[in-house]
Amino acid sequence: MDFLNYPQPLADLIAGLSKLPGIGPKTAGRLAFYLLQQPQTAESLADTIHYALKNIKECSVCCNYTQQDPCPICTSDKRDPSLLCIVEQPRDVAALEKTREYKGRYHVLHGVISPLEGIGPEQLTVSKFLKRLDGVQEVVMALNPTVEGEATSLYLSKLLKPMGIKVTRIAHGLPVGGDLEYADEVTIARALEGRRQI
Ligand code: ZN
Repeated sequence: MDFLNYPQPLADLIAGLSKLPGIGPKTAGRLAFYLLQQPQTAESLADTIHYALKNIKECSVCCNYTQQDPCPICTSDKRDPSLLCIVEQPRDVAALEKTREYKGRYHVLHGVISPLEGIGPEQLTVSKFLKRLDGVQEVVMALNPTVEGEATSLYLSKLLKPMGIKVTRIAHGLPVGGDLEYADEVTIARALEGRRQI
């Protein structure tokens, strides 16, 4: 799309919006004009984004997004400290929590190992994970069933096995390559229940 005829701030706004996932230049243009027509909505959205960025941080223990550190899941005494579930992203925690089936704690990797993209264990939260294994008896791998997710599960399970920690993986009721966050509660609950030892 040609932004040349637009005033620079509008062109910048469209360019900024089109960087969002799933937003192409056409939709970005439509959104930008909408925001200009609804200045109150736009101001309030800008404030909300700013507030969220300022107030949401990573839990220093599990690396999930939280307002208080450590997060409510890490500090809850109703959570089984011997059970730890590994997920890729904070949104995966939300998906698993929706099922209300899982009673352990989490660790968010913030990605998966991907040599092609130059992502190794050092770029993820692996070292933090390895420091919190005291008292952990089972680690549940709930990474997405992609090539990178599988490779990451394998990498971590190789580290855990010599420590005598049981490593399981959620069952493959999930669609291959399908994100955990898009699966429905029943599917996730079944996948958790049917987890198998690696
Ligand atoms: Zn936490």
